Amino acid sequence: MKKIQMVDLKGQYEKIKSEVDASIQEVLDSNAYINGPKVHEFQKNLEEYLDVKHVIPCANGTDALQIAMMGLGLEQGDEVITVDFTFAATVETIALLKLTPVLIDVERDTFNMDIDALKKAINSKTKAIIPVHLFGQCANMEAIMEIANEHNLYVIEDTAQAIGANYTYSDGTKKKAGTIGNVGTTSFFPSKNLGCYGDGGAIFTNDDDLAHTIRGMVNHGMYKRYYHDVIGVNSRLDSIQAAILDIKLKHLDAYCDARRKAANYYNTAFANHPNIITPTPKNCEGGICSTCDCHVYHQYTLQIKNADRNKLHQHLLDKNIPNAIYYPVPLHSQKAYADERYNEDDFTITNELINTVISLPMHTEFEEDQLEYITQTILNFLK
Ligand SMILES: *Cc1c(COP(=O)(O)O)cnc(C)c1O
Repeated sequence: MKKIQMVDLKGQYEKIKSEVDASIQEVLDSNAYINGPKVHEFQKNLEEYLDVKHVIPCANGTDALQIAMMGLGLEQGDEVITVDFTFAATVETIALLKLTPVLIDVERDTFNMDIDALKKAINSKTKAIIPVHLFGQCANMEAIMEIANEHNLYVIEDTAQAIGANYTYSDGTKKKAGTIGNVGTTSFFPSKNLGCYGDGGAIFTNDDDLAHTIRGMVNHGMYKRYYHDVIGVNSRLDSIQAAILDIKLKHLDAYCDARRKAANYYNTAFANHPNIITPTPKNCEGGICSTCDCHVYHQYTLQIKNADRNKLHQHLLDKNIPNAIYYPVPLHSQKAYADERYNEDDFTITNELINTVISLPMHTEFEEDQLEYITQTILNFLK
């Protein structure tokens, strides 16, 4: 059996090596390392793939969040609501801009923003909501957009883990993750579903004015060369990374399918096990599905019940099965983001999830004997 990896980037590269190498070589031959034609080409292709008017490439997914909030003109004291159970970049950028982060709990079954908690957190200072489409499936965007419209709030979708996922409205309409709110952001970190071979990110919007504002902001606030109209940042996607991403974008749907295939193998093996809750694709044609395109499984995350999650984590490592606890500490309990306004009773689900979740290897290059070994090792442990 091939060695099991959490994410098999090497196996994936080997299959597209000739395409990727040729694309990189084009950049080397052109010497257009910054803002070259490859960046523009990738931007256009991603706009088409996502069916969104504007894609603005930038340096990474954290910058994308920061610049999106700058572009919306959020100001010190404005409250921005996001989730307690996510990677820290989301809350970090809110705090860095001197906005006030308001963390709320998530749903147990989807790990995504809890709608009742969202309603409860809104007050006159609230200006924006950042749903995070965690582990590869959209938050309940229909409900979030309805609430945002009612209260006149901006919605920034953190799509770092869900690029390529479809969101299905209750009437059957579909949209790509990240194109529903005022603005969407993503990361091209190597292990993300659309990853480059370094750092990269992008911002998406259908709003022409916002796109114009953001295009200047990523380039030192310049709308005309050497005329600085606003305070900006320097945040660029390198041409070489764009050349890699432009090739990988062509394979993204196949990569999503490969991830879903692995997830279905896991789901079948763990179905109805008393100690295991498998991930629940939801928000799909109003119901629950197992085979459609609403989940792209950036992570495949189980919840372990009435068994020792930490022992399972170590046991799998001992059996050469990489696995991870995403996330071990709620953001409201992190030193940097603790706030006396928070009440533990408002975070019951996140406080539980940090002790029950475990993410299994998930990538596009599995061989069936690997999946069999992983699932059998877990089932034997839980016997
Ligand atoms: C990875 C990630 C980010 C940050 O992306 P970088 O490119 O590493 O800056 C932000 N939000 C979420 C949810 C992520 O998973």
